[in-house]
Amino acid sequence: MSATNLPLSGARLWDSLMEMAKIGGTPKGGSNRQTLTDVDAEGRALFQHWGEACGLTLSVDRLGNMVFRREGRDPTRKPVAIGSHLDTQPTGGKFDGVLGVLAGLELMRALHEAGAETEAPLLLINWTNEEGARFSPPMMGSGAAMGIFTEAEVLAKRDAAGAVFGEELKRIGWQGSADPAALQDCAAYLELHIEQGKLLEDGGFDVGVVTMALGQSWFEVVVEGAESHGGSPMAGRRDALMAAAPLISAVEEIALSTVSPAGEPGRGTVGVVEVYPSSRNVAPSRVFFSVDFRHGDPASLTKMGDLLTARAAEISVARGVTATVTPFWHSPLTPFDETLIARARASATARGYKWRDIPTGIGHDAVYMARKVPTVMVFTPCHGGISHNEAESITPEWAEAGLRVLADAAFETAGLVTP
Ligand SMILES: [Zn+2]
Repeated sequence: MSATNLPLSGARLWDSLMEMAKIGGTPKGGSNRQTLTDVDAEGRALFQHWGEACGLTLSVDRLGNMVFRREGRDPTRKPVAIGSHLDTQPTGGKFDGVLGVLAGLELMRALHEAGAETEAPLLLINWTNEEGARFSPPMMGSGAAMGIFTEAEVLAKRDAAGAVFGEELKRIGWQGSADPAALQDCAAYLELHIEQGKLLEDGGFDVGVVTMALGQSWFEVVVEGAESHGGSPMAGRRDALMAAAPLISAVEEIALSTVSPAGEPGRGTVGVVEVYPSSRNVAPSRVFFSVDFRHGDPASLTKMGDLLTARAAEISVARGVTATVTPFWHSPLTPFDETLIARARASATARGYKWRDIPTGIGHDAVYMARKVPTVMVFTPCHGGISHNEAESITPEWAEAGLRVLADAAFETAGLVTP
């Protein structure tokens, strides 16, 4: 039996998406199902019910990651895992994360209905706290499973109201006993997700095959000058904000002008700016701002940081201030697995979808999984690139295209067996 003949249903996937969206549903048509809340527990229970109804066995690990298993014919083979997350932002949409989990469920339903088997076991994962909205940082469940965070540090995290992650996990009844690190021992991991950008929609693409996660370099910049009265003459001022302003503009210029050999520009964001003393009639003496640079080419990413440092030095001299650029955090470019990428591309081509390769500039559970397990992601377009927003929307056709490419790549990897 080829994957084409399995009774995969785009309509059933869509119905399940709409059903899950009602849990924590918001008046504007989104979902507020933040991690480890009562509605998270309700969403988990519905997912458990659906998974068990198609013959899957659930295990829950010490961080609340839900892992459904479907045995394969060959008990010596490592499992092929599919997953994403059911938690949302406070003003989240219906699809971010949920699409990947429920597309995985649709694969399991189709296998169950057809009485089909795979050689390798299959896993279907709902990761705890991908969003990082209530407990920061994001992607805690997958990060701890892959050894990026310790379990103890995750369990001790507090939300803004002081509630402790580990206590909330127990309170909602979803702390299990399985070892999250066991998930490092998978043969492959596949994740379907909405793009959260508009390259696919603008180009008229049905599907994106995600080849890598962009490298990220974050910096902290401090500009120090001297306070002056707002009524003092302009000459001789050492206004830290007037020096910081062109340096902030340089972040965008550097991102757009640092182009990789493949022709791709970088991405640059200043998300936090703090001004001291922040008084209306005082020229500021100190400005702090954050810089987030991302690029799909490691040499270009390094160059972006170098250009920022050089610009800071120029501005320091020209304005008589001190501008210091300090590296804050770095995440290397994460390539996805060539074999899995090739399977996703071949599926999209065989099915006649219009597709392109695309990087992800956004963190996903797949990015942490890729540190230990061969991984690929598949993107579906989303209208206007809007996400983390109640207005997030996709079409049933896009969801189905993503589902089919995910299924083909997963079944080829796990070895689908004719009944
Ligand atoms: Zn997501």
